[in-house]
Amino acid sequence: MVANAARRSAPKSRGRASGAHRKDPSIGFVSLGCPKALVDSERILTQLRAEGYATSATYEAADLVIVNTCGFIDAAKAESLEAIGEALEKNGKVIVTGCLGAQADAVQAAHPKVLAVTGPHDTAAVMAAVHAQLRKPHDPFVDLVPPQGIKLTPRHLAYLKISEGCNHRCTFCIIPSMRGDLVSRPIGEVLAEAETLLRAGVRELLVIAQDTSAYGVDVKYRTGFWRGRPLKTRMLELCDALGRLAQDAGAWVRLHYVYPYPSVDAVVPLMAEGGILPYLDVPFQHASPRILKRMKRPASAENVLARIQRWRSLCPEITLRSTFIVGFPGETEGDFEALLEFLEAAQLDRVGSFAYSPVDGAAANAYPDAVPEAVAAARRERLMQVQARISAARLARKVGRVERVLVDAPGVGRSMADAPEIDGVVHFEGGQVGEFVDVRIERSDEHDLYGRLT
Ligand code: SF4
Repeated sequence: MVANAARRSAPKSRGRASGAHRKDPSIGFVSLGCPKALVDSERILTQLRAEGYATSATYEAADLVIVNTCGFIDAAKAESLEAIGEALEKNGKVIVTGCLGAQADAVQAAHPKVLAVTGPHDTAAVMAAVHAQLRKPHDPFVDLVPPQGIKLTPRHLAYLKISEGCNHRCTFCIIPSMRGDLVSRPIGEVLAEAETLLRAGVRELLVIAQDTSAYGVDVKYRTGFWRGRPLKTRMLELCDALGRLAQDAGAWVRLHYVYPYPSVDAVVPLMAEGGILPYLDVPFQHASPRILKRMKRPASAENVLARIQRWRSLCPEITLRSTFIVGFPGETEGDFEALLEFLEAAQLDRVGSFAYSPVDGAAANAYPDAVPEAVAAARRERLMQVQARISAARLARKVGRVERVLVDAPGVGRSMADAPEIDGVVHFEGGQVGEFVDVRIERSDEHDLYGRLT
């Protein structure tokens, strides 16, 4: 089976017809976790297909099952262990990869029968484990793998991962211990992938990394090459080149996981010029300087409100999205009030929030002053009420305007202000999946817009 549990999509069969006299070995695949893990799954599936393995829509028909796990929070760990158990029960031959794979001892303690455990973004190790179990098929038809690889996203969307790992050490997060320090992909390789995706019909590229704005820091912004010309491995140069590619292809580029460093100011004019979508997903996580310091957040010393003002002066159309953690150890009512005041002042367009939950291995677990669960939940509720009012007011300003919309399903699409899966949508009648349409907005609520095609 090929299933992407994070998106709750139905299992999809990616199998191909096998020869009359020989059945190619068939692999089941379960993909859990965030978009970064999704891209890892796509790479493994691409490699499997390139080598001629079939994929199976059921556990029973698979010769073995690969489970790409998530280990970000305890609930995700539990879900991953449960998925491994289910694959073992229904198939018996299981290879584990992904973030939880970085804790091989824990996986093997819970499920001693797994065949192999590898860490995240290690396609080579996963393939070696597959080869050890199943012969590598040989078939000239495997060359028919599409150049953009196997994608788990709809055909008109694709995630573009520009780096792996993270140099920060936020005290609530164990990602660096699972995925390692920052490793930026060569800029020529990233742009070549973007070009292939756009040629294959992708209409929106979603740029992701643990910290997109840190792109190139690990290689000291070394000069790479693209189309024979030198180009620095740096966010600004990457965004500029991506914007040009996307404009030529009539597509969008959206930036996720950007931190409020001064260097981001240079990218915002590209948004005003239309190369990159005027959209920034900036995980602020808190606003109280004391809590940000305890969280060891990157760019926590920056004056974030001034930065937001600057971004809006450079690009008045910019949409700002963020996430916040409430109930972090030591958060007082005063800290929380500071966060609410920040929200009122910042007038962010979109906000997600989480009540803090301790993750095994996170440094923040050592803080003694935990906030009771009920208090954290109540604060989250208050925060979302405040933000619902702000988001609704910001969306209401769009009523009467014409918005460019990318159609995701008949009658449903997203404007430039809406990232897939996490933001609201635009409702209208008609439209073909993957095309751009113009919608006159007639009404709004706190999440979505409603209108008709112009
Ligand atoms: S920036 Fe912080 S939260 Fe994000 S991956 Fe790095 S350590 Fe984790």
